[in-house]
Amino acid sequence: MAGPAARAVATVETVADLRARVAEWRADGLTVGLVPTMGALHEGHLSLIRRARMLADQVVVSIFVNPTQFGPHEDFDAYPRTLEQDRFRVRMAGGHLVYAPTVAEMYPRGFSTRVTVAGVTEGLCGDARPGHFDGVATVVTKLLLQALPDVAIFGEKDWQQLTVIRRLVRDLDIPVKIDGAPIQREQDGLAMSSRNAYLSDEDRGFANYFYKTLRKVAEDIAGGRDADHACAWGVSELGRIGFGAVDYLEVRDAETLEPVQGAPERPARVFGAVFLGKTRLIDNVAIGSAEG
Ligand code: AMP
Repeated sequence: MAGPAARAVATVETVADLRARVAEWRADGLTVGLVPTMGALHEGHLSLIRRARMLADQVVVSIFVNPTQFGPHEDFDAYPRTLEQDRFRVRMAGGHLVYAPTVAEMYPRGFSTRVTVAGVTEGLCGDARPGHFDGVATVVTKLLLQALPDVAIFGEKDWQQLTVIRRLVRDLDIPVKIDGAPIQREQDGLAMSSRNAYLSDEDRGFANYFYKTLRKVAEDIAGGRDADHACAWGVSELGRIGFGAVDYLEVRDAETLEPVQGAPERPARVFGAVFLGKTRLIDNVAIGSAEG
């Protein structure tokens, strides 16, 4: 009889168990998709899982709050951990397996390798969070090699991260297709994020003005306004609305992430990171496209 416990998705915690599952699927001729996450799953993550289901027969969702991508004064300890709920959500979104390794499984004693990607990690979150992308690149490389999926899905919400991962997969000849999934937003436009749970009710009430400001900057640039002027306006507008420190608000080439001054000649995006209370929000918006 299927009680509630039976509805949570199966979970493995070790590389060996993960590989055994994947080997069974491979033996049956099935393809595999991987959705790496840090858990506290919301609709944004679930959209990645649904997308993975369209791209592969079997979907693994990894849930690992990766200590090496957090700075010493960041929110590693406070980061929400909701594994039981996540296992139900993965099942509901159509995922087949949760891979939830421990820190010791991922970084056994003596672990001493680091993957560093140059270029696309410079600026934006790379400057604001030193060491962050080394942590991301290292753990994603490990996850890809542990699961060896056909395809791995990442959200465009973390556009720079997606760019870093595309780069490392190409540079290291990792035989996995990287798929980027569109940003999922709350009804008022705020990009969904596990960190939104930190926001006070009052701050949540106007958090969506971050997205609205980025959109206005993007629209102004599409309408011919100089990128630097538009971004300077955006920074002052965020301060006026009541946001805290702006880590960055910049226009960058969508593919190379090189800074764009003046009028973009290639596809470009507005990237922003801002504090609201103690919560750091990031978002990005395309310039000159119907997509927000
Ligand atoms: P995280 O758990 O925050 O590390 O995110 C795991 C994956 O979900 C990453 O590829 C994120 O880019 C993606 N993701 C997070 N929030 C969203 C969102 N609002 N829309 C689309 N993808 C998202």
